Amino acid sequence: MKITRRDFLKWTVAAAAALKVNLDMDKFNTVLANDTDPPVIWIQGAGCTGCTISTLNVTSPTTIDNVLLNKISMKYNSTIMTAAGETAIQALEDAANNYSGQFVLVVEGAIPSGTKKNYCTIGKLNGAELSMEDALLRYGTKAKYVVAAGTCAAFGGIAAAAPNEANCTTVKNLIGTKTANPVINLPGCPVIPKVMIDTLLNLFLVGMPSLDSLSRPRNLYGDNIHNACERKGKANVNKPGDFGCYKGVGCKGQSCKNSCAVNKWNDQSYCLLVNYPCIGCSNPDFPTNPLAY
Ligand code: SF4
Ligand code: SF4
Repeated sequence: MKITRRDFLKWTVAAAAALKVNLDMDKFNTVLANDTDPPVIWIQGAGCTGCTISTLNVTSPTTIDNVLLNKISMKYNSTIMTAAGETAIQALEDAANNYSGQFVLVVEGAIPSGTKKNYCTIGKLNGAELSMEDALLRYGTKAKYVVAAGTCAAFGGIAAAAPNEANCTTVKNLIGTKTANPVINLPGCPVIPKVMIDTLLNLFLVGMPSLDSLSRPRNLYGDNIHNACERKGKANVNKPGDFGCYKGVGCKGQSCKNSCAVNKWNDQSYCLLVNYPCIGCSNPDFPTNPLAY
């Protein structure tokens, strides 16, 4: 019986899970799924890699091994791919050309722009530095869909906080008028894994979601944290750690829209379940200054 590379990778993942061995994603190459599976290119600018890490921890609607082996074909993601240097950038370039008009471009992190664009380069293309700004303009216009993953990509976030010396801006500010479909914002610091994977899979299965005025999918960002909070209606308390409503100490649950209270991390928890106020990490003005509650 002929064993394909895909079969081998599947077996490796299954064996690692059975033996409770931590899977080192660096050992895998970029293309885990079939070439014919929906292509995804994931680039990262001024961010902390938290949105990639959050996504790798997805447990619902399925686990990341199933996503990468059976649902999508990840053509480029600098965190989990083995290739490096110009080989990696050439893989990015080839994927964008071969799948032009078909792939989803996921953008993580804000984008240093204008005269400051070279504060963030992602590699060398044909011997020249490729800034994140140029990469976004180059590949975003070839993508079928563009997803801004996390608050930095969607709204600037911590990377664009004052004094913003690198002139960081958002995905939508740079290419909002140049994409085939409207940019989809998935704020959150980091993005909730289920929100990320649901959006990716639905893009391929269904197409564009309905977006609100901040370009967020209405089905995932339709409600605020407060309405699903188990502290709603409880007496105010004066300090984090005590059980009760944190409104008096600055909780931003009423102004912040995300699905943390429903789609918890690892299906387990979120800020208010570990006795801390919502600091509004999914809001366009995050981080507020000071970050005090
Ligand atoms: S703790 Fe925050 S989110 Fe929860 S009920 Fe109070 S104000 Fe609303
Ligand atoms: S509860 Fe608020 S601060 Fe915490 S993750 Fe959700 S939106 Fe962000």
